Amino acid sequence: MNIYLDNAASTPLDPEVFAHMTPFFCEQIGNPSSTHAHGRNLRNLIEQARKTIATHIGANPREIYFTSGGTEADNMAIVGAVQAYPITHIISTVIEHHAVTHTIEHLEAEGKIKAVWLPLDHKGNIDLDDLRSALQQAPKALVSLMHANNEIGTLHDIHAIGEICKEHDALFHSDTVQTMGTLRYDLSSLSIDFLAASAHKFYGPKGVGFLYIRKGVKISSLILGGSQERNMRPGTENIPGILGMAYAFDKCYKNLDHKNKHLWSLKTYMKEQLELRLPGVTFNGETEPGKSNPTVLNVAMPCNEADCMLLFNLDIHGISVSGGSACNSGANLGSHVLRGIGAPRNALMNSIRFSFGMPNTKEEIDITIGKLQEIVKQPVI
Ligand code: PLP
Repeated sequence: MNIYLDNAASTPLDPEVFAHMTPFFCEQIGNPSSTHAHGRNLRNLIEQARKTIATHIGANPREIYFTSGGTEADNMAIVGAVQAYPITHIISTVIEHHAVTHTIEHLEAEGKIKAVWLPLDHKGNIDLDDLRSALQQAPKALVSLMHANNEIGTLHDIHAIGEICKEHDALFHSDTVQTMGTLRYDLSSLSIDFLAASAHKFYGPKGVGFLYIRKGVKISSLILGGSQERNMRPGTENIPGILGMAYAFDKCYKNLDHKNKHLWSLKTYMKEQLELRLPGVTFNGETEPGKSNPTVLNVAMPCNEADCMLLFNLDIHGISVSGGSACNSGANLGSHVLRGIGAPRNALMNSIRFSFGMPNTKEEIDITIGKLQEIVKQPVI
């Protein structure tokens, strides 16, 4: 058996995307910074890729900067903003991805900013009034709030947050790594300054992503070198990665309704079947459309085993899922997200994140729930 329900950690590379990338490893050679024909050809393709991405999200191509992925994009926005603006406070929550929380903690430890962690309800929501009052007390602030949480799927209302940030003259960064390629964006009507994305979350290659920086916002590069990405991100461009990312992005947005219908049907089906076949299950985070991402269902299992046993037991049956975000597996402290929303101890130990992708089927969900029924009944292997 080989069932992959860990698409929030990484989606499989779409074979069509791979086919689009392959000529750029051996055949289409050169460096896009070179002025000869080989170089110019690659430069044009990079700019086309930038335009493709920008068009789908209502941005200007000059607002898109290619990076090595979501982590770099988050770092570039947060550290870059603190370097360039007289920011005294960063307002965020403890359930952000560590690419954000660790960056904020590092800046605070260096004495550069004060971190303000907003309170969360038990489903991972913030109260917008808490954000307003934090902004009143911190007039020179950067707000960093993700669109969808990668472990529990809860969505923040980035439209409302953007408006509040604008009213208070604060910069707003959103980690949209889990939603880019899945939810629609129109940056012409969204008040947001920075937005981070990663190709391997939307069936593109690993090791490439982008940062949107709103026109007029000026930050400097984190690394030093050449003048690539308009001096913002030195280093020879990852041509196959960038072109693969743009191709994958285009495909996601051209098929978005179909994609969302499929993902929601899997999530709803799994939730209903779990409630039916495993009485006592509860769900961490929001689970409804409009409030949650269709890709993630975080489930607290009705058993007393530690989560490693659940994951281990599923793993030996060929079913890949996560207890939390992939970057922290093995940390054995429980998920910082579940702790952050005050999940009860049982949920901390027994929660599984199922995350869905386009290749998944309802049959795979049935098989997975069947195995869970066996594991929960006979927890000792
Ligand atoms: N932000 C979120 C919400 C994520 O889920 C991830 C990856 O899991 C990242 C950032 C980091 O992205 P990358 O793996 O491209 O560095």
